[in-house]
Amino acid sequence: MPLYVVATPIGNIEDLSPRALQTLKDSQLILAEDTRKIRDLVAVYGLANQIERKSQRCDSRAEQQLCKDPKFIEQLKSNIQIALVSDAGSPAISDPGASIVALAYREGVQVIPVPGPSAVTTALSISGFSDTQFIFAGYFPRTSNERCKIIQQYKTAKSSIVFYETAQRIDDSLKELCELWGAERQALLARELTKQYESLYRGTLPEIKQQLVEGVSECKGEMVLVLEGVKGAKGVKGVKEWGSESAIQSLGATLYPDANQEQLSEEDKFMLKLLLEHLPSKTGAAIAAKITSKKRKLFYEQAIKITQSKKES
Ligand code: SAM
Repeated sequence: MPLYVVATPIGNIEDLSPRALQTLKDSQLILAEDTRKIRDLVAVYGLANQIERKSQRCDSRAEQQLCKDPKFIEQLKSNIQIALVSDAGSPAISDPGASIVALAYREGVQVIPVPGPSAVTTALSISGFSDTQFIFAGYFPRTSNERCKIIQQYKTAKSSIVFYETAQRIDDSLKELCELWGAERQALLARELTKQYESLYRGTLPEIKQQLVEGVSECKGEMVLVLEGVKGAKGVKGVKEWGSESAIQSLGATLYPDANQEQLSEEDKFMLKLLLEHLPSKTGAAIAAKITSKKRKLFYEQAIKITQSKKES
């Protein structure tokens, strides 16, 4: 039997997918980070007792123990269906589960994901920042020294950076981020996602700090901080980001695979005309040259003709 890795809601109980519920019902054993949490989760579906009876604790310590004495592997091999869940969200994302999954692979057991919510993807999807790449940095470290090291490490990242943070430390983290990355960095702080008191704070780091002070008398709850990457910073090697020079050139190669390098086509001229409606001749010509990989001089000469004929008409 395969090992099912099942995501559960991060707040709103209705985010449990029908397939996740069915998998929990069908499993004979549930490896749960906390067996009480899974009972609460399925109480709403009238399955609490049924699920509780078959769940076994699998927090970080229990996970190590299970991996040392892996009875569950024998059970899987003798056709017992097992589901792995964490307290909330996706197992093994800042939660126990990775060693269980790794052991299953080593033992030749099939692993089947039953995907669903995760705080990292939920926050990222509503950040409005670049959608091409992101870095998930997990929890901010506890000590200021370690936090500052991490903050420095990601300072010039081009991608969005996602951190999990606690209400107790968010104030210090925002302060340190502001000191080390400057007050202009845009961010989204997502608190209590999908829960009753869900609140989103978006803006520069000082603005978020201010919104937090104004919004809640006492900062509580679970939170995710998404920071926008640095525009124009060096991207990660080998990955094309939309808007980067290499992406523009590869777009050009796709649109103009057999372009004649020595002269402008009607499409080139039309594109340049559109660019010149918003840009000065030099910039428009430079962008068009990048897109088509043709000489900038050709476009610049054409740009002069276009502006000339505009003046005359
Ligand atoms: N496995 C989970 C996942 O897939 O997101 C993460 C578990 S980790 C132990 C818990 C952390 O995730 C919290 O401290 C918080 O940073 C973040 N988190 C989880 N649920 C959240 C929610 N509803 N709103 C905001 N952040 C949440």
